[in-house]
Amino acid sequence: MLDKKNLKGSCGCGKVEYIISSNPIFTQACHCKDCKKSTGSSFVVHTSVFEEDLEIKGKISSTELPTGSGKGYRAFFCVNCGVFIYCKYNIAPGRVTIRTMTLDKPITPQAHIFVKDKDPWIDITNKEICFDTMYDREKMWPEESLKKLDNMIIK
Ligand SMILES: [Zn+2]
Ligand SMILES: [Zn+2]
Repeated sequence: MLDKKNLKGSCGCGKVEYIISSNPIFTQACHCKDCKKSTGSSFVVHTSVFEEDLEIKGKISSTELPTGSGKGYRAFFCVNCGVFIYCKYNIAPGRVTIRTMTLDKPITPQAHIFVKDKDPWIDITNKEICFDTMYDREKMWPEESLKKLDNMIIK
């Protein structure tokens, strides 16, 4: 179980704050080309949570962007500093993806995906959680997260 007080975050200027009220589903680093472009950095760290568990305070705006799947996603950012806090993938209803490093105490990734596109100067020590592209959710996600997702689909 994660300590709830750790699950607070904010944008760069502090005008937008958020709280995650339940254990996150999963945290992963993505080294794909799209994530590099959208962060302007070598990889992104994403924490996926159920939409009902995310409480946002402050003014946010959003924009629709393309994804590799062609379904697209909506990115949400602070209207003042422009920091991209979370997004909603159209292929994953009911879930949102937080930019993990906007948390006050960021979570360590449980997997690294699209390692085939990883920058050569990055050396990930835990090879067991590295995947060339994607992993099998059933094998990687905690039991609690899989159960919650099942319940959501049945609803
Ligand atoms: Zn801000
Ligand atoms: Zn990516």
